Amino acid sequence: ATATAPAPAKPRHAKPKVPDQKMLIGGKWVASASGKTFDTTDPTDGSVICRVAEGDKADIDLAVRAARAAFEDGPWARMTSADRGRLLNKLADAVEDHRDELAALESLDNGKPIADSLAADLPLTSACYRYYAGWADKITGQTLPMAGPYFGYTRHEPIGVVGQIIPWNFPLLMQAWKWGPALACGNTVVLKPAEQTPLTALRVAQLAQDVGFPDGVINVVPGYGPTAGAALSGHMDVDKIAFTGETGTGKIVMTAAAQSNLKRVSLELGGKSPNIVFADCDLDAAVEGAYFGLFFNQGQCCCAGSRLFVQESVYDAFVQKVVAKAKGRTVGDPFSTETEQGPQVSQEQFDRVMHYIAAGQRDGAPLLAGGGRVGDTGYFIQPTVFGDVTDEMTIAREEIFGPVMSILKFKDTDEVIARGNRTVYGLAAAVWTKDVQKALRLANGLRVGTVWVNCYDVFDAGAPFGGFKMSGIGRELGQYALQLYTEVKTVTMAL
Ligand code: NAD
Repeated sequence: ATATAPAPAKPRHAKPKVPDQKMLIGGKWVASASGKTFDTTDPTDGSVICRVAEGDKADIDLAVRAARAAFEDGPWARMTSADRGRLLNKLADAVEDHRDELAALESLDNGKPIADSLAADLPLTSACYRYYAGWADKITGQTLPMAGPYFGYTRHEPIGVVGQIIPWNFPLLMQAWKWGPALACGNTVVLKPAEQTPLTALRVAQLAQDVGFPDGVINVVPGYGPTAGAALSGHMDVDKIAFTGETGTGKIVMTAAAQSNLKRVSLELGGKSPNIVFADCDLDAAVEGAYFGLFFNQGQCCCAGSRLFVQESVYDAFVQKVVAKAKGRTVGDPFSTETEQGPQVSQEQFDRVMHYIAAGQRDGAPLLAGGGRVGDTGYFIQPTVFGDVTDEMTIAREEIFGPVMSILKFKDTDEVIARGNRTVYGLAAAVWTKDVQKALRLANGLRVGTVWVNCYDVFDAGAPFGGFKMSGIGRELGQYALQLYTEVKTVTMAL
């Protein structure tokens, strides 16, 4: 009987159908002032998922006005901090309750495997809202030791209306990193999601309305960077702008902030993170960590371990193992539960990654795996590995943001610290060794915001994340993120 039975279909989640989308301003779902829309597309084949209201300056103005009103006179302004925390907890609950729906929407819009959306994006998102729910009523100032007959103390007050601009690689999670601390601290927000992936931001905004966030506290205006994004970062009545995206765009946002009202700026930008494998490590664990740390999320991670330094005595053994893993990676339909890698998010990103693969070959790095596209529709790229990469090659210097691993050889500790730091970026790094002293030397010596020891891409809502150098300004997550969303006021009273 088994010989004649049809092969069981691969387990597969259903692709959701999505209606056209409006934007959320002042608690109402509205069309754009211009009436314009843009298409959001499915990266597996480039087809249109739905049309989305396209925000521009006029819509940003309306959203900022709504956020200002909610900040100054709405119920939000009078709410206790404990009640704000309760709302954030309800939002965390709602995200958990809609886990399957949100995961499917994220995979549809972004192309990431549904297994990853369910295992990583969703639990990290709800955990972030829940973590900041806990902070809402624990944000305190200090009493000050004044040199004189004075009583001095500080208050940590919300900054006001906060503009937030996020990228497409982790749409749900970047929204949570922005909204969690901003709302816990009592600000109101205007979010501009990435034009490639607006759908989950809009769905979570609806959930926030459903659980009772007052009108105008949360506003979402989808649209393009140079129009809606520029209007937000240059707005005279936005008190702070938080941005995640490319370093070049971060400079534009910071310039706009400087040239308008000197709004506060926090930036989470690009990286070229060194992942350093010493000969004395658990080699299989390092192979696994290097593979995950580069290929996870189609390589579209700001902290991807994109400069993989391997000590010369284990270089050949390591390369052999990691190449075998790359060649065995399952690339395909994000809605199949067996898929490990989906398409890149867009044609533009696909072209950019292919350009870097060509640059690696031109620079003479041996291509050990992949190097081409998968299939002839959609933006799928083979897991690609270059060996014997040297520091000056383009693929060792510029952020690729795709499934392209560059392996470099090193001899000793001092050398690898110096080479690891020889970049304009400073987002993250990892070190693989069983020698505690060596691990700590590296942790001290690397000029980066996060160092992972014998692990990679371990995130926690309580652990701050952000960059040294041109990887950004400020730290998201943890208690540190509260500083991004509060002003400190000193009050001095004569005794
Ligand atoms: P991007 O800078 O092109 O776009 C990010 C966002 O900025 C989008 O919403 C876009 O519409 C908007 N934008 C574009 N031009 C703008 C302008 N002139 N004014 C205002 N807003 C504008 O980046 P991307 O290609 O979408 O995202 C990938 C980049 O994000 C990578 O470089 C990656 O390293 C970085 N990233 C960093 C982190 C981090 O935490 N450090 C996290 C995720 C992604």
